[in-house]
Amino acid sequence: MAGKRPCCVCRKWFSPQARSGKQQRCCGRPQCRRERHRRACAAWRKRHPDYDRELRLRQRVVRGPPVGEALNRDPLAELSWEAARDAVGLEVAVIVEETGKVLVSWARDAVRAQGAEITKKLAKVVASAARDAIAVGACPP
Ligand SMILES: [Zn+2]
Repeated sequence: MAGKRPCCVCRKWFSPQARSGKQQRCCGRPQCRRERHRRACAAWRKRHPDYDRELRLRQRVVRGPPVGEALNRDPLAELSWEAARDAVGLEVAVIVEETGKVLVSWARDAVRAQGAEITKKLAKVVASAARDAIAVGACPP
């Protein structure tokens, strides 16, 4: 068990609880516990100054996917471009939005090309399977 120590808030000596031991820094008085918690929160906010700002910006910018729509939806509509423009400025927002449009267009073209290629390969497989069936039927065992 840790020995007596001064409270970090009121500076009165206290005996720490047996379970908390070395970690307890303030006495058990509610005012001291509340003040220690307030100080810890203030220190955390000082170490993470942009935490709330970042969270609020994300909540403003991200709209989320529209309900009930299939893959044909516009993924860029999941963002609020007005909020993005307010946050980063007109030039950066336009460049990011146009980059997103180029990437969406490229992805759609790539998926279409892949689908056409799969269809061609499938046609060759079906044609060769039909020839094999004819060849087996032509030659009696
Ligand atoms: Zn105290």
